[in-house]
This record gives sequence, C-alpha cells and structure tokens, in this order.
Amino acid sequence: MNAPFRAPPRRSGAEAHDIVVVEKVSRHFGGRKTLLSRVAAPVVRAVDGVSFTVRRGSCFAIVGESGSGKSSLARLVVGLLKPTSGEVTIDGTPLSTLDGKGLRALRRKVQLVLQDPRASLDPRMTVFDTLAEALTVHGLHREPAARAERIDAVIGMVGLNAAHLARYPHELSGGQRQRAAIARSIVCEPEILVLDEPVSALDVSVQAQIINLLAELQARLALTYIVITHDLALVAHMADTVGVMYLGRFVEQGDVEEVCGAPRHPYTRSLMAIARPEAAGRRDAPSSLLEGSIPSPLAIPSGCSFHTRCPLARQLAAGGLPSRDTSDGLLPRRCVEETPVLNSAPGGRSAASCHFADQRLPIQES
Ligand code: SF4
Repeated sequence: MNAPFRAPPRRSGAEAHDIVVVEKVSRHFGGRKTLLSRVAAPVVRAVDGVSFTVRRGSCFAIVGESGSGKSSLARLVVGLLKPTSGEVTIDGTPLSTLDGKGLRALRRKVQLVLQDPRASLDPRMTVFDTLAEALTVHGLHREPAARAERIDAVIGMVGLNAAHLARYPHELSGGQRQRAAIARSIVCEPEILVLDEPVSALDVSVQAQIINLLAELQARLALTYIVITHDLALVAHMADTVGVMYLGRFVEQGDVEEVCGAPRHPYTRSLMAIARPEAAGRRDAPSSLLEGSIPSPLAIPSGCSFHTRCPLARQLAAGGLPSRDTSDGLLPRRCVEETPVLNSAPGGRSAASCHFADQRLPIQES
C-alpha cells in the first residue's frame, strides 16, 4: 500500500492545504452468508487500497472506464458509503468519527453533482422549491426574504434567471437542468463539489458551456473539485491532479500535465491515444488498443490486473522474451504473477504501477 500521493500545486493562489485526504481506502461488497444461502457471496473489490490528497481550491480527477470503481470512490468521499478499511478525512475531520449530525453537516460542505440532473431534481418541484428545500434541510436562510435573495443570487451565478425558477425540470433543456442541479449543489455554500461525469449526458454543444461555468464557479467561490470521468481530454482541461483507476486501484496518479502529457502506464497511454489521437500523430482514435472490456471485479486477473488487455505486455512478449520470463499464456511472467506497485517517475510529479513503465515502446494496436 502506498502513502497518499502528493503532486505540487499547478495553480497559483492555491493554499498548501489538503482539504481531502484519502488513505488506503477499500470498499468491498459481498463476502457474507445470507439467510437463504450457506455459501458466502463472492467478494467484489470495488475500491482497493486507494490513497490520494486534494489541495483546497484545486481540481482532482478520477478517471477510468465504467466498472473501474470510480463512482464507488466518489461515494466514499462524500460519506454515502462507508469504507471497509482506510480513512477519508475532510478538512481535518476523519469521517469515521462523525455521527449522524456530523454527517449532515458534512453533506452541506461536500456536495455531489450527478451525471443526469434529473436524478437530483425532483420532477414535482419547481427550481425555486428545489433550492429552497436544500436551504431548509441545512437550516440556512430561514427568513423568506433572505431565502429568496440567496436563491436569486445563485440562479444568476449559474446563468439562469428568475423565469427559470418557476419551471419544473421537464420544462428545462438538458443544459438548463444541469445548471439548476449545479445551483442546488452550491446554494448551501459548500466547499467541495464531487462532479460525477458532469457533462457526459449533455449534447456536445452544451458540454463546453457547462465546463466553462464550472471553471468560473470554482474561481469565484474558491471551490475544490473532484471530477469523476471516463474522458481524459476533459481531465487535461479541468484538473490539476489525476488518478487513473482500473479495477478498484489507481494505476497512475499525479500532476495532470505529467500524467496526460507523458503517461507512463500502458492503460493511461491507451486512454490518451483514444481521447487525443492527434497528439499521437493520428487522425482517428485507434479502435483496438484495449482488447475486450474491463474484467469483472469478481474475477480480478492475477499479477498486474491489466495484463489481460495490456498492449505493452503483448508487444514485450512479441519481442521475444526468454522462455523463463514468459508465462504459459506467452505474456511476460512478471505481468501475470507479480502485482506492481506505484513507482514515482523521475521528478516525482507522478507515479505508475507497471513493471515496465520506463519502456518507451510505442503503444500499438493488436
Ligand atoms: Fe502491462 Fe505488465 Fe505493465 Fe501490467 S505490468 S501494465 S501487464 S506491462
């Protein structure tokens, strides 16, 4: 297990203070016998020994494919899931020490913005009532005049106006709904927003507007962001630091310029080639870099969990390894038998868990 990885801040003005500290956090599901079964359910390792820190005012991105564990990790950070082991600390307070009242106060400080705004907006409530309800839940701006003033201010911040306050979610466009959901998340003056795929449900034409809005709000309200996404191009645009997640673990993490500019792990290199083919000197995204889909977390491959899909392992094997270094499946033996740990790159601004991270072979399609 690794200590929380710290990369130097990129944005000037960020306080040298970690508002989020995640230490060796795991969340496993199953493994218990039920009333109807004498056999314990198999253990799903959704998150497995993840550590990272986020500086106040910065943006940390968690990137990975569907099934990588990134949404479970987001829910651990906002206190909606309890870790099986490890600790999440928000602004100096370990979440394990909080009772119900403390967790409610935390939910004001740390807000979750979902991919589909319809999930966070009640279809039976107008935008005004949704924002008013959020204030009521947290006991803020109890006087009607103060409440209306706060709601007016926030709706303007997200680029909507008084007319939108009287509408129901179905009367708004997709972009307007996401703006209303963001308004709901900031109306209670949070310090941290956890943004779960904040633009992936939107039309491409609207995505840039929402990304720009989030950047404006971050600067204006001194917010800290944790962005969950499958899109490394979005990460390169928004984030200061990043963790690349595969089957419940970070396989690469650190400063976003390092990780996106010179990725060392074959998984990150493949995702970058797919997200930004032009940077790899291609016109189109390669279609066959990553073989198959992510394995089930019920059956995590031995050794390096990425070995069943790794283009670098295939290339190394094709390059002619001595038989003593080759597994039965003709991949490098170390990849199949030995779990790699995160090792820092020269300069220490990122770390990758690959036995061959320093091999500069170009990643090729299968
Ligand atoms: Fe690929 Fe082997 Fe590196 Fe894992 S350790 S990423 S299988 S080369």
